[in-house]
Amino acid sequence: MAKTVGVLALQGDFAEHAQMLQRMGHRVVEVRLPHHLEGLDALIMPGGESTTFGKLAVRWGLIEPIRQFALSGKPVWGTCAGLIFLAKDVGRDQPTLGLMDIQVTRNAFGRQIDSFITPVQVRGLAGPAFMGVFIRAPRINTVGSGVEVLAELDDGAIVAARQGNLLATSFHPELTQDTRMHAFFLSL
Ligand code: GLN
Repeated sequence: MAKTVGVLALQGDFAEHAQMLQRMGHRVVEVRLPHHLEGLDALIMPGGESTTFGKLAVRWGLIEPIRQFALSGKPVWGTCAGLIFLAKDVGRDQPTLGLMDIQVTRNAFGRQIDSFITPVQVRGLAGPAFMGVFIRAPRINTVGSGVEVLAELDDGAIVAARQGNLLATSFHPELTQDTRMHAFFLSL
């Protein structure tokens, strides 16, 4: 069934999420202001720079409206910088939504030049391992009791997690041709 999905479009790779959603037959709304959240079935927060998301979200009055959207039970997914923006604890002082009970380290795998692609086994996804694209990616170090770990790398870094209607991935499914993570998210 076609859904109306918002993509936070303050900065970052929102266009790639939008393209994938459109390919899957969904309607996309670029979210830049609080009223863009009206009528959405779900919201995706892309990769980019989480400090920039924070600054712009504060400036445009988006923090509390997105929090309320998530607390109403609608699915919200953060990829990479979006994951950081969802988190309660990012180990430093920057504005986040503080919704997900995860403790995160930013840029945990090194710099841009240390970007990598590796197969990730995601619990709940049928079929082969997902190609995880990691670009200056965060890792989740610890999760609260209400958070389910969906994927870890060999070194124990948590790279996908779910807390009810909230989903977080360190990697970038929107940069692959594989629609399974997006389909999984929209089924939450
Ligand atoms: N390094 C970025 C941050 O800390 C995230 C990078 C990404 O989204 N690809 O916000």
